Amino acid sequence: MTTIDAETATTPLEFLVRKNLSAATPARVAEVHEDPGFGVVFTDHMVDICWSVKGGWHRPRVQPYGPIPLDPAASVLHYGQEIFEGIKAYRHEDGSIHTFRPDRNAARLQASARRLALPELPTEYFIQSLRELVAVDGRWVPSGADQSLYLRPFMFAKEAFLGVRAAQKVAYYVIASPAGAYFSGGVKPVRIWLSEDYARAGKGGTGKAKTGGNYASSLLAQSEASAKGCDQVVFLDEKRNVEELGGMNVVFVFKDGRIVTPESDSILDGITRDSLLQLAEDRGYTVERRPISIDEWREGVASGDIVEVFACGTAAVVTPIGALVGEGFDETQPLGELALSLREELTDIQYGRREDTHGWLLRLDA
Ligand SMILES: *Cc1c(COP(=O)(O)O)cnc(C)c1O
Repeated sequence: MTTIDAETATTPLEFLVRKNLSAATPARVAEVHEDPGFGVVFTDHMVDICWSVKGGWHRPRVQPYGPIPLDPAASVLHYGQEIFEGIKAYRHEDGSIHTFRPDRNAARLQASARRLALPELPTEYFIQSLRELVAVDGRWVPSGADQSLYLRPFMFAKEAFLGVRAAQKVAYYVIASPAGAYFSGGVKPVRIWLSEDYARAGKGGTGKAKTGGNYASSLLAQSEASAKGCDQVVFLDEKRNVEELGGMNVVFVFKDGRIVTPESDSILDGITRDSLLQLAEDRGYTVERRPISIDEWREGVASGDIVEVFACGTAAVVTPIGALVGEGFDETQPLGELALSLREELTDIQYGRREDTHGWLLRLDA
């Protein structure tokens, strides 16, 4: 058993690799790559690392993908101590496999862990866990247009104890799923429902952490949105400032070249948003991270000051917002060129079609 203390982590972990003896056939992988969808088919293996108060991070393994044995009293099932990440592996034209800003995902997982009283996985271990999975399941990284292998690292409290306290035994896993173009038939503007009855997060809560509970609390509003003929929900804070969608950040483009995105301690700090805004700054746009109220949004669109509104996140990259719908109104949003042009620049970098001047890519298969 390898036991390494998180504080002194510099040496790589030694993963025990147990190969899946009933791995998918090449024909099956090819079939999945024809139309991967999103999050429906998983690769042959998964990574897991254990953590305990006494042993620190230990027992790093690559093993066949399959059910996780869990005691019915496991804390996560009762108190929701769970956090996750979402990051993609991209295949370049020469066959090599790269990921995008994994140090940022590692840092965010650590921040989420602090908020949920879970242990912090060192950045080197996080990156190594992605490499280990790609080393055995690299053939699952598709090569079609806008396709990728979506990697889902996650961590939860697994000790069998109904008392309420910080986690003492934890499991960290990485699973992977081939992902197709999020929008079949091109990027479609979405209709957004303005939720006035429900919040996804509150001041001092867990909104800044990537944790399952934030999604659980967004689902009723999401159902309401579907019932109103909308695709997604936008949440407000109690002061009526715009926060974000259930799982994507929001960006407003102004006529005068300013780009505004909400800032608050209850919004998930998206890496896609940060990257798109960096690319916009490189083009000479001025980026403002500040509170923006629902009134400023609606009045800005009405006056023509706001010329584009879009949502962004790893899964769908960029989604133009085509309509804002609420109790008693349905307002068409202006569509511009910037969202799709930034999307193209970002994906060109991710797929190796454009120079990576910010040093955002990390090769995973070498
Ligand atoms: C993951 C996530 C995002 C997008 O973050 P990216 O790093 O861009 O993928 C936005 N909002 C929420 C609530 C999220 O969970």
